[in-house]
Amino acid sequence: MGELTRRAILLAGGGIIGGIAGAKLSAKKPSLSGTRSLQPAGAPNTLNDASQLSETPIFRHTVAVENPGDVLVDAIRREITEASENKRAFNIGAARHSMGGHAIPSNGHAMTFENGFTQYRSRSNTYRAHAGARWSDVIATLDPLGFGPKVMQSNNDFGVAATFCVNAHGWPAPHGPMGSTVRSLFIVRPDGELVRCSRTENAPLFFATMGGYGLTGAIIELELDVEPNVNLEPTFLKIPAQEFAQFFVGAIDSGDVNMAYGRLNVDRDTFFEDAMLVTYRPAADQSVIVPAQGSGTLSQLSRHVFRAQVNNEIAKDARWWFETGLGPMISDGVVTRNSLLNEPVVTLDDNDPMRTDILHEYFVPPGRFNDFITACQEVIPSSYQELLNITLRYVAADSESILSYAPAPRIACVMLFSQELTQRAEADHERMTRDLIDRVLDLGGTYYLPYRPHATLDQFRRAYPNAEKFVEEKKFYDPDLVFRNGFWDRYLANMA
Ligand SMILES: Cc1cc2nc3c(=O)[nH]c(=O)nc-3n(C[C@H](O)[C@H](O)[C@H](O)COP(=O)(O)OP(=O)(O)OC[C@H]3O[C@@H](n4cnc5c(N)ncnc54)[C@H](O)[C@@H]3O)c2cc1C
Repeated sequence: MGELTRRAILLAGGGIIGGIAGAKLSAKKPSLSGTRSLQPAGAPNTLNDASQLSETPIFRHTVAVENPGDVLVDAIRREITEASENKRAFNIGAARHSMGGHAIPSNGHAMTFENGFTQYRSRSNTYRAHAGARWSDVIATLDPLGFGPKVMQSNNDFGVAATFCVNAHGWPAPHGPMGSTVRSLFIVRPDGELVRCSRTENAPLFFATMGGYGLTGAIIELELDVEPNVNLEPTFLKIPAQEFAQFFVGAIDSGDVNMAYGRLNVDRDTFFEDAMLVTYRPAADQSVIVPAQGSGTLSQLSRHVFRAQVNNEIAKDARWWFETGLGPMISDGVVTRNSLLNEPVVTLDDNDPMRTDILHEYFVPPGRFNDFITACQEVIPSSYQELLNITLRYVAADSESILSYAPAPRIACVMLFSQELTQRAEADHERMTRDLIDRVLDLGGTYYLPYRPHATLDQFRRAYPNAEKFVEEKKFYDPDLVFRNGFWDRYLANMA
């Protein structure tokens, strides 16, 4: 389809959706009678995260901009020593998009890494990245050389070491979590020693740090695998949700899919009955590969569609029609792998001060996916929470990290809820999350750790049977428990 025709359709689509969005904006704000607002106060000497619900007092926050090297290591050692001498916590963060204070040391010393240093190494066909480099920095360095990151999240704003510390995954297929693409790293241990770790050097520390939520030391630099950047062509398949797992696993097993994701409809009447599978395979023509773009026109427009869905069932239908009908027709067609990865979070940002976006993620054995759909149909629409999106991804098995969420291949179900910033919404959200966690655990799956700390301690133990082993490893490297954050305080401290 020609560019002009596509633009015309986009404008028309934008007009319709804009009308729906306008209707929503003119709606009255929720009454606070009988509840209280949880809007952050933004008090001095506090830190918050992407949830807006983690405002926590801290002792000091420093931003480290130095390249990996002696100056940075000395700055980290000074903070560790001062924190330790005063029995305070120390913890490093990057973009602070985890949602349960995972990068916040309560009343302690917080440090944020802000340095995008990234360098390709031709001899090993790898790249070095500053621990605080964001994926946008990595893509900017690798793209002109014909490479890109092998595995990263669906957005480019996150820190590279942070991604390793949550062992994140994305939609590059057929890979497992990002830790599998890290060759080695340099870390300042809690005792102040700078050491190199890999699968063959200080291996126990390497595996405890992978998915270890920053509790084993301060990573300053990593060396990672690259993947060739290629032109990719999409295929869109609309199918009943009950057939999704079979088609998805079949596509991944075919071996020629480079990127893949799925979606389900979210309107309450026909909740999770329809699915769409989008697969990207290498295009026939690889002669010209254009520089990585930012958000495509479709993603820009998606924001309006997305936000119009809050408390609006008609908009949810319209969004599904837009995504499964109009979207494939006006899709940009051939696109580079790096352009697909180079998407900022801001594309879908919410501007409503009374609401916040809360993510959930569940890892489901493919053979139990249909049971998970049934569980969601029973739990989610009967809550007050507004599910705006679910994305489905494939995650290969991870047998390396101690807190592995994919001991075997899994379908990752990433959900984005828009939550009112009130006590009543928070209580309802917690109840719904616990129901979903019970259901996924009964199916042999698990839930993802970087989001809201709503799971009970028992649910956490059941979901991560190696948690006690992780605590033992952490205490071995950090006997004085200097590296602490919200995740430690809420769960692991109770097992120490
Ligand atoms: C909109 C959105 C989309 C997301 N999409 C995905 C997705 O597609 N796939 C997925 O798997 N996850 C996804 N996530 C979750 C995300 O990957 C994690 O929250 C990740 O931690 C975010 O990176 P960050 O830079 O914000 O980390 P932060 O929240 O700043 O830190 C995360 C953890 O890493 C530790 N850490 C950070 N830097 C260091 C360091 N140098 N040394 C030691 N420890 C360190 C921190 O202590 C903390 O425990 C998403 C989250 C959001 C909000």
